[in-house]
Amino acid sequence: MTKQIEEAAKAIKNASHAIAFTGAGISAESGIPPFRGKGGIWNTYDPIVLDLDYFFSHYTKSWKAIKSIFYDFLEDKHPNAAHIILAEWEKQSILKGIITQNIDNLHQDAGSLNVIEFHGNAQRLICADCAHIFEVRDWVFTELAPYCPNCGGRLKPDFVFFGEAIPEQAYRKAYEASTTCDLMIIIGASGEVSPANKMPQIAKNNHSAILEINPDSTLYTNQITTISIKGSASEVLSEINRLLNIEANK
Ligand code: NAD
Ligand code: ZN
Repeated sequence: MTKQIEEAAKAIKNASHAIAFTGAGISAESGIPPFRGKGGIWNTYDPIVLDLDYFFSHYTKSWKAIKSIFYDFLEDKHPNAAHIILAEWEKQSILKGIITQNIDNLHQDAGSLNVIEFHGNAQRLICADCAHIFEVRDWVFTELAPYCPNCGGRLKPDFVFFGEAIPEQAYRKAYEASTTCDLMIIIGASGEVSPANKMPQIAKNNHSAILEINPDSTLYTNQITTISIKGSASEVLSEINRLLNIEANK
């Protein structure tokens, strides 16, 4: 692994437009399990509550599950070393930005500024009737399903449900970032979630190098990757960061 870490540090140092593409795996070490696989959220809950039609036709019941999955649970989760290092790299202009599939706000909590939220963000609630957006941090949840204080309409978490389109602006920005980067760092993404999974391929088609960090093989591994490092996000990024710091202090 040491040789790959060295190669990764070199690729990051030499890139003029590096971006990160992150999935649920980067938040695993913050205690948020991915949806699928071992310990996955969908082993405990039925994903139907995130189906748009089901959600609106079973509003109270769906909110009960959504509240315990996304709000009671996410409340006390904090960025881990991987989120923090990416935020530092942005400040140091090593990284231009992040395309994330995550909805947990942990990149922003860590201090990252240029975050493209491909699937929205659980920290916002949007009214289905008047489109007003409420910040969850200003919100007091009760045991009851929430309704809009402005118009009484139903409130939906402002993240992408099954059967819902990707927010247009996020898609456009992600596409643009993927066509202009010369290095994409894929961290903790399986490549199974469409259309987000297309972004690394778009980057590759535009001659970007692809660095992958994941403890497991994915649909990207050895298909489009230039360097693929098997390991957890925080461990691998900490190692790379250590080498970059040694280099910077020479
Ligand atoms: P995913 O594509 O996000 O895959 C998760 C990947 O993370 C897997 O390949 C797994 O091997 C890898 N992984 C696990 N632990 C890791 C670690 N410590 N370091 C690095 N990688 C690690 O797939 P999913 O979980 O099925 O998610 C589906 C969609 O839902 C995605 O868009 C995802 O971002 C979103 N989701 C978001 C959150 C969140 O906001 N934290 C949580 C669950 C799912
Ligand atoms: Zn409203």
